[in-house]
Amino acid sequence: MRVLVAEDDEMIGASLVQALEGAGWSADWVRTGPLAQSALADGGYTCVLLDLGLPAQDGTEVLRCARQRGDTTPVIVLTARDRLDDRVLGLDLGADDYLRKPFELRELLARMRAVVRRRDGSAHSLIGSGALQLDLSTREVFVNGRREALTAREFALLHALLERPGAILSREQLENRIYGWGEEVTSNAIDVLIHGMRRKLGAEVIRNVRGLGWRVLAA
Ligand code: CA
Repeated sequence: MRVLVAEDDEMIGASLVQALEGAGWSADWVRTGPLAQSALADGGYTCVLLDLGLPAQDGTEVLRCARQRGDTTPVIVLTARDRLDDRVLGLDLGADDYLRKPFELRELLARMRAVVRRRDGSAHSLIGSGALQLDLSTREVFVNGRREALTAREFALLHALLERPGAILSREQLENRIYGWGEEVTSNAIDVLIHGMRRKLGAEVIRNVRGLGWRVLAA
């Protein structure tokens, strides 16, 4: 998925791009309003992170023009401006959400997922890849529309993998996502979990990448 980062602050922009790429996004970075406009006009973005204070053309103008063109790409406004008026204006102009700097990356990523889900027409909290859908609120998994029950640990494992379809998670990363501090983890715990899940979900759902870990394929 591609994200457009419109941010003129070099440090914020660079760290955003690095973090987004680390989270599995493909990030394009522009530093001025007009460049944001033309990138948006080219299309193809799943989400836009828009600084309001951009050179040459303000972020609010970029947003206004995009919405007037009928561009419905989800936009999260990033603003250092501690003014209610700016945030209200951004939302009124068609921003889907906003974050005040400085913000936590985890919160930004969660908000990105949320605006993308909403734009996809999914009011509830489904995440997934291809035939595999995970409902984060009810904790159910659907495989080709068929519902399967998962244990809490199976759910946590699948959730970790589905957050970044295609990315490989190591045994240690998966253990960290599943087991709390002080919990006894046997050396083959992950293998046992995945073996059980393959029997429920199908052998092809979770792929082993020899020596590296496991992943679900990106849709
Ligand atoms: Ca700025």
